[in-house]
Amino acid sequence: MVRKLKPGKRCPVCKAPMVVITQDTLHQLMELNPAIHSIPNSILSVSKPYYHICKGCDGYALGDQLWDGFPFEDIDGVIREIHGKAIEAGSLDNEK
Ligand SMILES: [Zn+2]
Repeated sequence: MVRKLKPGKRCPVCKAPMVVITQDTLHQLMELNPAIHSIPNSILSVSKPYYHICKGCDGYALGDQLWDGFPFEDIDGVIREIHGKAIEAGSLDNEK
């Protein structure tokens, strides 16, 4: 198992602690073609298992406009989606 990133890294834009998404989730949300503010292009262009993303700057990309947002590991380690709904632990890695 690849070592996970820890949530809480400071957002380069607004300095808020960031949450963590998987590469699968990144690919899913990129299909909607959102503008991503908190992940620099230099990181987006590299294939990584996990990415830090800011809930504040990239709430739209995380699915704020959707009924069900994309899953991310929140600051407290709980898997949630943007509307605050907790998602069953483990599902973050099983999303395919
Ligand atoms: Zn931010």
